[in-house]
Amino acid sequence: MENSPATTGTVYLVGAGPGDPDLLTLRAARLIMQAGLIVHDGLVSEDILAMAGPKARLVSVAKRRSRHTMAQHAINDLLVAEARAGKQVVRLKGGDPFVFGRGGEEAEACHAAGVPVEVVPGITSALGAAAAAQIPLTHRASASVVSFVAGQCKGLTEQDWSGLAGKGRTLVIYMGLASAPLIAEKLIADGLSPAMPVAVIENATSKAMRLLRAPIAQLGELVNRERVKSPALIIVGEVASDAEDELHALAMEYAQ
Ligand code: SAH
Repeated sequence: MENSPATTGTVYLVGAGPGDPDLLTLRAARLIMQAGLIVHDGLVSEDILAMAGPKARLVSVAKRRSRHTMAQHAINDLLVAEARAGKQVVRLKGGDPFVFGRGGEEAEACHAAGVPVEVVPGITSALGAAAAAQIPLTHRASASVVSFVAGQCKGLTEQDWSGLAGKGRTLVIYMGLASAPLIAEKLIADGLSPAMPVAVIENATSKAMRLLRAPIAQLGELVNRERVKSPALIIVGEVASDAEDELHALAMEYAQ
């Protein structure tokens, strides 16, 4: 018979936000500081990991595109096993656990195993990047819809993005660097103006943040020329334009 402790631990699926430790929720910060075990992704910044106590055990399950160090089922198994052994497990993820973070899969695995789960939201990188770059995702004058999509190569052609980008709409693309030229092609083929502004935000909220802009027709060239590296987000829409005066004028018109 298995040696099971009297109490099962809890798995905390915690959002670490986009990078800057000041953008953690208080709940996330408390859990990180008190944790005995932290299982984290590659996206979680060093500054945040440094907040863990001296006795905390840190396990990296870093997932980088095409360089998986731990399969998802192995991560699920690890969380369940540690919780069953009585540990309080802090599963720390970049941004928000339920926005392209596989938090859903990990929560399901815990539910299936009878392990209690708590989810702590984080500032998803789209919101962190938008704030840091001062790009409003909605704006009374120029955007009343905002969509988040995953832009990695696998399955890109099957995804229906029609109507997500265009006049009055903002589209934020996660994981879109490698397929940036294809993304531009896809959106233009769907009817988007080749002149639609795009902003690329690399390492949002960190000291190394870069903000680049171009019309969508030049997105691939921009990413290539500037050697943009992951993590980066692509924001497509009028709000991404740096013509602040234009936005301001529209807003003034609107306010009247
Ligand atoms: N759960 C995360 C997303 C994980 S998917 C969240 O809510 O933000 C990984 C993608 O997120 C990256 O490929 C990149 O597109 C984006 N990303 C995460 N952190 C970022 C950052 N600091 N700056 C720019 N993009 C970031």
